Amino acid sequence: MIIKKVFNDLVFLNNIWQQWEIRPPSFLRLFFPGVIWRVPLSEKKVFLTFDDGPIPEVTPWVINCLKEHSAVATFFCVGDNIRKHPEVFRLLIESGMAVGNHTYHHTKAWKSNRSIFFADVDRFQQVYFSKLFRPPHGQLYPWWIRSLKKQFSSVVMWDVLSKDYHPLLNDEDVVNNVMRFVRPGSIIVFHDSVKSWPRLEKALPAVLKQLHNNGFITETLNQLAPAIDWNL
Ligand SMILES: [Zn+2]
Repeated sequence: MIIKKVFNDLVFLNNIWQQWEIRPPSFLRLFFPGVIWRVPLSEKKVFLTFDDGPIPEVTPWVINCLKEHSAVATFFCVGDNIRKHPEVFRLLIESGMAVGNHTYHHTKAWKSNRSIFFADVDRFQQVYFSKLFRPPHGQLYPWWIRSLKKQFSSVVMWDVLSKDYHPLLNDEDVVNNVMRFVRPGSIIVFHDSVKSWPRLEKALPAVLKQLHNNGFITETLNQLAPAIDWNL
C-alpha cells in the first residue's frame, strides 16, 4: 500500500518535472528579470526558434520546410558555424529569417566565467550584428542580464521546448510536446542540428501543419518592439 502510494507520488512528481522541462514554470522565470520567455499577445501568433546552426545538413532543409508552410523563424546561430558555412548563413538571411546571437563557440555560462562568456558573445557580434541573444542551454546568471541588455534589445529564453534533441523521444513525442503547450505568444525551441534531425524531419512539418490548422501564424523575433521587459 505504502509502496504504491510512494510510486504514485514519484510518477506525479516526474510528470510535473517533465512538464516544467517543456514549459519553464512561472517561479523560475521570476529569477531572470528582463528576459523574454513569451510575448504577451492574445492573438494566435507564435515565434519559432532554431538553435545551434547554421549547418548544411539541416538548416537549408528547415528553411525550405518553413517556406513550404509560409512560416518564418528566428535562428540562434553559433558564430563558428557561420564561419564554417557562410553559404548556408547567406541562405538564412536571404530567406527573410531572423538571426540571433548564441555565442561564437556555444559557450555555456555555468561552465565558463564572465570574461570568457562575454568575449564569446562579442566575437559573434563581429561576425554578425544581432539585437537578439539566447544563452546556450538557457544558462545564465541573473546578474549578467543587465550587461547583456545593454547590447541586445532582447535576451530570449522560451515558452515551449520541443525536446527534439532527445534520443529517447520520437517525432510524435516532439509534436505533442509543442502542441500540448503552445499558446498565443509562445516562443518555441527547435534545433537545426544533426542530433535533432532524426525527430525534426517528421516533427517540423507536422507541427507547422497543426499550428496552421489551429489558426496560429508565425513571426520572427525581429518583428517585436524592442526593449520591453516581458516576464510571463
Ligand atoms: Zn544551443
